[in-house]
Amino acid sequence: MEPATKQPFDIDEVLKRVRKSVQGFADAAMFALAAQGHDTLFEQLVACILSIRTLDEVSLPTSLALLKRARTPEAMSRLTPEEIDVLIHPVTFHEPKAKQIHAIAVRTVKEFHGQLPCDAQVLQSFKGVGPKCAHLALGIACGHEAISVDIHVHRVTNRWGYVRTRTPEQTLEALEACLPRPYWVELNRLLVPFGKHVCTGTRPKCGTCPVLSMCRQVGVQSPR
Ligand code: SF4
Repeated sequence: MEPATKQPFDIDEVLKRVRKSVQGFADAAMFALAAQGHDTLFEQLVACILSIRTLDEVSLPTSLALLKRARTPEAMSRLTPEEIDVLIHPVTFHEPKAKQIHAIAVRTVKEFHGQLPCDAQVLQSFKGVGPKCAHLALGIACGHEAISVDIHVHRVTNRWGYVRTRTPEQTLEALEACLPRPYWVELNRLLVPFGKHVCTGTRPKCGTCPVLSMCRQVGVQSPR
């Protein structure tokens, strides 16, 4: 549904309003971890793997518990997959994730002298690491300009009418073509809390949304 009068979509103004509206909400897990000093590429990659299909409320404390025990590839490689599994038990798919994290640590020690390179291709060569995690970790830990598209970024940018895509992969491609580069890392940081609290999966809060005047509300059937 789309009200009769809409202003032209202005990405600078939209993100300015979104930035203000998410100020009171918790940061997405990986940004919260970075703010607590866990900002190396290895730590960010591990945290992203733990966050896959797991709520931030679960993945954040689990990441902190694991990184407290082992925050470098060397330390992680000295744990067994079974020990890692016990530490990350609350997250979804903890058993395969434990094996993946262990394998990344071992390979980083052997191939990269214990230091993960800031290279998307290397990161995506690890089992369990796709563009979403690679880009977000590179953006936070290495300062790379990279867009990370998760389900919130995909849903919100399509509802805005800013992109018109069917999959997160298509959304990444479309955003790379139209989103100004200074927003590439920040977009995920803004839209995860915005998608959780305002532009929610079902019944988004359009009535009080700060970008209603510009949002095309594509596919929105029953807003609040
Ligand atoms: S809550 Fe509604 S108006 Fe706001 S961004 Fe989502 S769909 Fe658009």
